[in-house]
Amino acid sequence: MSNFDILVVGGGHAGIEAAYLASQFDLNVGIITLPGVGLASAPCNPSIGGVGKGQVVREIDALGGITGKLADMAGIQFRVLNESKGYAVQSTRVQIDKEKYSEFAEELISEINNITIIREKVIAIEFEDNQYSVRGECSTWNSKKIIMTVGTFLNGKLHTGSTTTEGGRSDTESSNSLASFFSSIKTVSARFKTGTPARLNKDSIDYAVMTEQPSDSTVRNFHCLNTYNTRNLKQISCYLTRTNETTMEIIRENKEKSPMFNGQIKGVGARYCPSIEDKAYRYPDKNIHHVFVEPEGLDLNTVYPSGISSSLPEEVQVDFLRSITGLEKCHVEQYGYAVEYDVIDTTQLNYKLELESMPGLFFAGQVNGTSGYEEAAGQGLIAGINASLDILERDSFILNRNSSYIGVMIEDLISNTRDEPYRLFTARNENRLSVREDNAVLRMYPYRTSLYLNDAIDHYNDVFVNVFEALIESIEKNVVKPGDRFLVDNKIKIAKRSTVSELLKMSSLDPIKTLEDYLVFIGLDVPREISRCIAITTKYSGYIEKASQHYEKIRSLDKKKVDWSRLVSSENISFECKQRIEKIKPETFGQLKLIDGLRPATLAVVAGM
Ligand SMILES: Cc1cc2nc3c(=O)[nH]c(=O)nc-3n(C[C@H](O)[C@H](O)[C@H](O)COP(=O)(O)OP(=O)(O)OC[C@H]3O[C@@H](n4cnc5c(N)ncnc54)[C@H](O)[C@@H]3O)c2cc1C
Repeated sequence: MSNFDILVVGGGHAGIEAAYLASQFDLNVGIITLPGVGLASAPCNPSIGGVGKGQVVREIDALGGITGKLADMAGIQFRVLNESKGYAVQSTRVQIDKEKYSEFAEELISEINNITIIREKVIAIEFEDNQYSVRGECSTWNSKKIIMTVGTFLNGKLHTGSTTTEGGRSDTESSNSLASFFSSIKTVSARFKTGTPARLNKDSIDYAVMTEQPSDSTVRNFHCLNTYNTRNLKQISCYLTRTNETTMEIIRENKEKSPMFNGQIKGVGARYCPSIEDKAYRYPDKNIHHVFVEPEGLDLNTVYPSGISSSLPEEVQVDFLRSITGLEKCHVEQYGYAVEYDVIDTTQLNYKLELESMPGLFFAGQVNGTSGYEEAAGQGLIAGINASLDILERDSFILNRNSSYIGVMIEDLISNTRDEPYRLFTARNENRLSVREDNAVLRMYPYRTSLYLNDAIDHYNDVFVNVFEALIESIEKNVVKPGDRFLVDNKIKIAKRSTVSELLKMSSLDPIKTLEDYLVFIGLDVPREISRCIAITTKYSGYIEKASQHYEKIRSLDKKKVDWSRLVSSENISFECKQRIEKIKPETFGQLKLIDGLRPATLAVVAGM
């Protein structure tokens, strides 16, 4: 029998992040995970980052986690999403080689001396003699702390048409044997559901009729210590095609065969990750939906058609797939399916992600009702750090929701019983002008410093913060005047003397390029990610100030009367929020604030009315 300080059950995205962080505190850490399932494997979309999620990956990176590092190593296409929108909502997205991502994770974790990887199924967990005893099919281990990260495996059940099998994902078993352990923990009454599309043979597709989306060589890597835009692997393109009237007709004609709509699946799916059946039946007038054809890896023969996850019978999947431009001759390598699984009620957890009623037992990832690799990794990091700090009898590590997406997610999770899978997006954050990708190091700096780990990440963060502070102060003072060579060379017209910071706020100028040009002009060599952060922070400073006043106003508005009927007809409030408001019909702002699932951005709209 081995003794561990921390045992992580599950080697997915939450599990490896938890174990990696815990190992930094020189503790004896174990990961117990199912045989045959690679570490950090990607059962769904082969990508890391995206809207709201890119911010999380940068936060994880600034706090010393590994998701960003792995994404850079396995990245085969880099893009910035929302590039035409404001900087606050721009997010990096990396298409990954899913096989290599998992291999790199295995390599990186195996090299850490104080992490032991155990491939065995956990069948029971008990608490006795002030420690946890974890029983696998062959062995038993003791540990001071447990971090449960079992993803979609709790009573997992897979559906394709009328065929159902037990499992956490295709070709794996489920975690039914943990039922007695979970009987003492409240699970959400509704089961949750997620799904995945068919995988297609990459040589059976006509790419010539689709729109190519090449990798952007200028995109900054996720990991701060990697050179700005170098790439580890060969870069390849994704392709865009669309569904059409025939596609959607086929799906609509087969509604009674859809497990999601014929009553076979009872679980609730993620509203913001709808299957193609959801799109067909819920929006009967809409036939054109984007389908992104994404490679799954350099050496894999499959592509992932994003946007059309389905659990329809196999023959119906083939029919609708072959109606899509470019997919007429596609060959299916693996059919799409849906998985139903149990999740715990996260209102039982505290900010450390520890179960209040069973100290020392932490939960992170999809078992907490979230969806997505990044959300899982962010929670794993919080649980891993806090389990370690508890053992070391140090203060807890709690991220504030005003300064991080991870903080928003954790507060949302522990404040409400989730009634559907939770995923992050920028509208969940009331402070999104200040909580951006570019300033993740600044935002995470005080938190990371409080860990006293003092490694290369801390050195990088110190330099970032020091240069940022010195330069932002100097551009407030440094002046440019009409006729200055820098302005003439860059064809910038100004009417009077201005500080550089005033110049960056001019609406006609790109603040990032202007600051870069200015720095070249004065001969100062500043890392691009720092000058970018300074330019955006300066550009937004007025709005940020206003936004924080607005936020303070929200806090004092509880007594304000609200006209709920006006809210449900407002164009600025999402459909989901309108549905929830209409159900409760709140009379005051205070009542409105308590409605489950109402987004902070909606409250901000109401406060401004
Ligand atoms: C079919 C499917 C579709 C998905 N679709 C999407 C999507 O469209 N968008 C999206 O963002 N996310 C999607 N996801 C979710 C995404 O895969 C997860 O959010 C992410 O992997 C969660 O990470 P995790 O670490 O919580 O769990 P996982 O990555 O699932 O890892 C769980 C780990 O627990 C281990 N485990 C389970 N039970 C035991 C046990 N008893 N003993 C030992 N080890 C155990 C498993 O081996 C596994 O390593 C999908 C997942 C599936 C399965």
